[in-house]
Amino acid sequence: MTTHENGSAGLGGHHQHLGGGDARALKITAWLTGIYFVVELAIGIWTGSVSVLSDAMHTFSAVGGIVLAIIASRIAARPADTTNTFGRRRAEIIGALLNGFFLLGMAALVIFMGSMRLQDPKELETGPMLGAAIGGLSVEFVSLYLLWSGQKGNLNIRGAYWHVLQTFVGSLIIIVAAVVIQFTDFLEIDPILGIAFGLVLLYASWGIIKQALTVLMETVPDEIDVSNVRNQLRQIPGVKNVHHIHAWSLTTGKNNFSTHVLVDSDIASQKVLEQSYEVIEAHGGIGFATVQVENEYVDLAGSEDIDITGEHRVSETQDQSGASAAHSREDHGPRPDA
Ligand SMILES: [Zn+2]
Repeated sequence: MTTHENGSAGLGGHHQHLGGGDARALKITAWLTGIYFVVELAIGIWTGSVSVLSDAMHTFSAVGGIVLAIIASRIAARPADTTNTFGRRRAEIIGALLNGFFLLGMAALVIFMGSMRLQDPKELETGPMLGAAIGGLSVEFVSLYLLWSGQKGNLNIRGAYWHVLQTFVGSLIIIVAAVVIQFTDFLEIDPILGIAFGLVLLYASWGIIKQALTVLMETVPDEIDVSNVRNQLRQIPGVKNVHHIHAWSLTTGKNNFSTHVLVDSDIASQKVLEQSYEVIEAHGGIGFATVQVENEYVDLAGSEDIDITGEHRVSETQDQSGASAAHSREDHGPRPDA
């Protein structure tokens, strides 16, 4: 239930400015969780418990996620300039992709370790396992408390919050494994729960990777319906057609939109432009738009493959030269020396 949230929030909505208190809460959480990771990893290696090790892996990714959130929000906050005219907001997408692949690798490792151990179950020291779980629960309680108020209004913090909430579940799993082993000698419980948690990590990593790739592939953001915007733009008086329509994200929650609007030559283009922006604003979810109002097609030759409307036309002069070239080829056939 948490993985989807984790996936989406892992990328963060860094357009929301981090307040001083929120930044401090993130920093303290990163330190607490980081120190706890070292302790938990040591206990995991010492006892050989798969459930402790898998929780340690997740703890590490939680720290990574929080540190990435801090670094990415700093890089992303730098203003746009002549070298990066869209700013550097995709830093957080690259960070999220790295985090996702890292989590994927750890999930594979944990599942592999668990399946090896299932074939050869091992007697575990339940005392240190319980120690690791209780240490984890206390760190996670403090972190959840610190992040509680911030996560309500800021997606960036919510990502960290869900990370911590997942390691909280991981700690509960360790307690279950330790208690079951203590009272029943059912040793397989440790690798079984470890693998189960590994599968959760796998799912979480997929969510993060998928969302990062969506932005990098310039997929139309979920919140934008280009057909709907196009239809509404076509309703504006004087508009003949709407082509070269594009929508993409710089980063999660920062969406751009651009389009060409062909209008009757006797219509006031400024009026059409203003009405177009009213449509775009009313649609919502678009932070930046470019609208090209044209009386005649001026589209660049070679860009027709990125026009989803099929209405792309090069300018009159280009069109004619293109047509005459095609004719001459038809008339004379392929040149023998070509
Ligand atoms: Zn055009």
